[in-house]
Amino acid sequence: MSDCLFCNISQGNIPSDIVYEDDQVVVFKDIYPKADVHLLMISRQHIGSLNELDKSHDELICHMMRLLSKLAKDQGLDNGFRTIINTGPGGGQEVYHLHMHILGGDSLPGFA
Ligand code: 5GP
Ligand code: ZN
Repeated sequence: MSDCLFCNISQGNIPSDIVYEDDQVVVFKDIYPKADVHLLMISRQHIGSLNELDKSHDELICHMMRLLSKLAKDQGLDNGFRTIINTGPGGGQEVYHLHMHILGGDSLPGFA
């Protein structure tokens, strides 16, 4: 989608601080980090949110989930990390291209 921010980042039309990429996903630093480490993992394919997933996305989602541990370790998050997927207006989603937040480090606040 030409007017989608994260599609444009995936295609290199908008610069970002990329830490990992392959044929299915791109991972880059959040422009407004909420923790010492704050990455965003996006699918190369445009998917608006979790609400649009169907069986055809099973392999992609499995790939994204399995990548999380490696990405966290590469950032030095040996003690653990947090993942967040905001979905829809009620979930606080701002960018309507599926993405996982990966957060960690000393400044990570409690979640409750
Ligand atoms: P959401 O609220 O949709 O789950 O999260 C969107 C995230 O994208 C926010 O944490 C925001 O800081 C980040 N973001 C918005 N615009 C840009 C941008 O142009 N570049 C990068 N790297 N992150 C962005
Ligand atoms: Zn998109």
